[in-house]
Amino acid sequence: STPSGHRAKEEKIVVTVRLRPLNKREVSAKDHAAWECIDDHTIIYRSLPQERAAQPASFTFDKVFGPDSITEAVYEEGVKNVALSSLMGINGNSLPPTLKGRFYMNISSFWKRFDHRLISILCISATIFAYGQTSSGKTYTMRGITEKAVNDIYSHIMSTPEREFRIRISGLEIYNENVRDLLNSESGRNLKLLDDPEKGTVVEKLVEETASNDQHLRHLISICEAQRQVGETALNDTSSRSHQIIRLTIESTHRESSDCVRSYVASLNFVDLAGSERASQTNADGARLREGCHINLSLMTLTTVIRKLRSVFTYVTAVFLVQVISSSLSQCSVKRGQFSNLIGSFLLFFPASSVGKRSGHVPYRDSKLTRILQHSLGGNARTAIICTLSPASSHVEQSRNTLFFATRAK
Ligand code: ADP
Ligand code: MG
Repeated sequence: STPSGHRAKEEKIVVTVRLRPLNKREVSAKDHAAWECIDDHTIIYRSLPQERAAQPASFTFDKVFGPDSITEAVYEEGVKNVALSSLMGINGNSLPPTLKGRFYMNISSFWKRFDHRLISILCISATIFAYGQTSSGKTYTMRGITEKAVNDIYSHIMSTPEREFRIRISGLEIYNENVRDLLNSESGRNLKLLDDPEKGTVVEKLVEETASNDQHLRHLISICEAQRQVGETALNDTSSRSHQIIRLTIESTHRESSDCVRSYVASLNFVDLAGSERASQTNADGARLREGCHINLSLMTLTTVIRKLRSVFTYVTAVFLVQVISSSLSQCSVKRGQFSNLIGSFLLFFPASSVGKRSGHVPYRDSKLTRILQHSLGGNARTAIICTLSPASSHVEQSRNTLFFATRAK
């Protein structure tokens, strides 16, 4: 595979950049393409002869997609491994004995004994973000990617007949720190966030539909997308000022489990962020300014959270190593199991959720966006960020800001 493909398999956070083609309006306004992808990794700024070259003029990433690239390629190289890790990343049979028989939530949150019944549930999650200024191609890219992910999920289901799958979907929009349900236009407005001791932050009364098959799932996704459009015409382009999250929860159970029922719960988030230009809006009046502040806050918080998580990931890798060592030791040790129990107690004593404190505060609570995604961003979760870019010379500053964001996130 390609180096970036290989990287995507290993990395917790994969950052890619997609440059869209000039659109008709930009062409007719005699705008010119100021950015160019010179190879798979480098994007450069082509200054006009009369301009003094602005710095920096060149940015390097794991993978950049030029104006001719198709969404399929962006999905294959930048997203697929991240998205599918939530489905098949961890094999339940390889769970160390210390964890068997435990009710096992997202490693980032906690695990606990679930009385004496041998039930183990493994939760893992993945999140895909689209980041960029309005009209840079976030929604275009995200829709294509969601569709490809749905195809892959269902082909995985078809090729795994020994497991039974259940897929649930919810959709929400965060506008001015108000949460709106995209599957319930009637009463799903201004929903509250609650702290559930087991599930973490939950959105109160958020509708979750169970998809009966792939067509049904696509239909439910299109309802979410249409709901966002409705808001758009009524409130004059809310989509550029709101974050949209579509969450798929994929539960699977082995059909012929004998002594223990082992379930996987994978959650997969597709996040179409508010236009990043809102974050830097300066000459705005009251309402706009507040809006800009909210967006700024959530995007800033998101950046900080992602940066902080880099160090948390190191810890989680260490936890996995300890688990592997403890399980292999317990197999050859005379006092079989004792050592692994010791390690198990150690892990219970220092759950990964407390790492945030030790590696610096992870400010999830600072915005609704990061609160809602909190349990999808830490621990064993994986993240893909697609930064979308307009090539137009009239958007040079915004594009440069997006590239700075991408540089910081990678
Ligand atoms: P955003 O969600 O970032 O505001 P959109 O996804 O709505 O931007 O894209 C703006 C316009 O550009 C849409 O008409 C879309 O179809 C078009 N567009 C975006 N990205 C591409 C692309 N990679 N190739 C062709 N057209 C694109
Ligand atoms: Mg959009």
